[in-house]
Amino acid sequence: MFWEKNIETMAPKALKALQLKRLKKTLESVSGNVPFYRDRLKAQGIKLADIRSVDDIRRVPFTLIEDLRKNYPFGLLAVDKSKIARLHTSSGTTGKPKAIFFTRGDVDNSANLIARCLVMTGVTNRDVFQNMMSYGLFTGGLVMHYGAEKVGALVIPAAIGNTDRQIMLMRDFGTTSVHITPSYALYLADSMERSGVDPKKGLSLKRAYMGAEPHSEETRKKIEAAFGIDVYNSYGLSEMNGPGVAFECPYKDGMHVWEDNFILEIIDPKTNESLPDGAEGELVLTTLNREGMPILRYRTRDLTRVLPGKCRCGRTHRRIARITGRVDDMFIIRGVNVFPQQIERVLMGIKGVGRNYVIELDSYDKLTVRVELDKGTAVNNVESLSVLKKEIEDKLRNEILVRPKVELSEPGTLPVSEGKAKRVIDNRTI
Ligand code: AMP
Ligand code: ZN
Repeated sequence: MFWEKNIETMAPKALKALQLKRLKKTLESVSGNVPFYRDRLKAQGIKLADIRSVDDIRRVPFTLIEDLRKNYPFGLLAVDKSKIARLHTSSGTTGKPKAIFFTRGDVDNSANLIARCLVMTGVTNRDVFQNMMSYGLFTGGLVMHYGAEKVGALVIPAAIGNTDRQIMLMRDFGTTSVHITPSYALYLADSMERSGVDPKKGLSLKRAYMGAEPHSEETRKKIEAAFGIDVYNSYGLSEMNGPGVAFECPYKDGMHVWEDNFILEIIDPKTNESLPDGAEGELVLTTLNREGMPILRYRTRDLTRVLPGKCRCGRTHRRIARITGRVDDMFIIRGVNVFPQQIERVLMGIKGVGRNYVIELDSYDKLTVRVELDKGTAVNNVESLSVLKKEIEDKLRNEILVRPKVELSEPGTLPVSEGKAKRVIDNRTI
């Protein structure tokens, strides 16, 4: 099924022409309204009249996460503040967040892209859609919510957590579709089994949309088998509206990127060279249809490749493979982006903590931080150690929004690696 068949199946040539038209409009908007981009384009000697094909985008410098931070809070706005309807931030909490602004038109457009994704996989106004993503600043809540409403589904803004209530809602209201992180889906299946509910029998569930975190094909299969449903991979990032950037169709063979809204490039993250379809590299995206805060050539840090060939569903928008990893060392827990440096910064600011630490990831929300004590810390004073432990847990919870388990070790007992320290041990199999 299609939401906007003419656009979704547009001939590649016409799609390119539409991209070019929108790229020019975007460049015009940023050169007129965003000093950051105006200066950059000028420095490169790029004139609007010189942009003759979509590939000319390659002359434009990349936008990095740091550029978003430097221009926080309002530096990248392309419209007057009075036109802004909503603010979202990335789920990462390192220092200043990345603020992303939506005009009324952007809110509507992002909902429209979600509607394409949901309808593509069979959602109609008869569906009950339970959104198990965190609501609030994170886009996974509201952006998906508005899209599901646009399709006409009955939307339950359940948010993440409170598993017993999730199960109750699913049973009482006959939930047919859920939006969920893979780690929470595994946890939910386990919890149901533990409480004697058969996830395959006791529910009306047909499909799950899984995103916000990397996961493997094996995890998809595991969750499909546990619930007896179809699971679709959903990719997005707040910088590009949030969910609805790339989504699987019923053939589950890569995720269609809505190319009328985004220019898709894959580059070699070391040389910055553009790579051909099929080669794995870093995904770089340019917004083509955003009013409030257009972003040019954004380095997502996510690794993937473009799948060559046509998709059997008839959509012409190219597909990317499942995200295989990241260029940086960010990891995601409970859907929240965490950089190891955030943990380090907190630890190093606490008196009594030594220099070495290891972060271990085990499951859905199981994060253990092993910390060496400072040489001067009394290792036998049980009471003061438990106070210290609590202080570390509280401060980390404040910084990364997840409460870790903290284990204290005597000085010099944690492994020291040669060369680059291996701070994060990821034991998760998803
Ligand atoms: P946020 O900006 O907080 O929404 O986080 C976006 C990041 O989450 C992306 O850059 C990816 O690293 C990750 N992510 C989102 N969806 C997926 C997905 N389906 N598979 C793998 N990683 C994902
Ligand atoms: Zn398809």
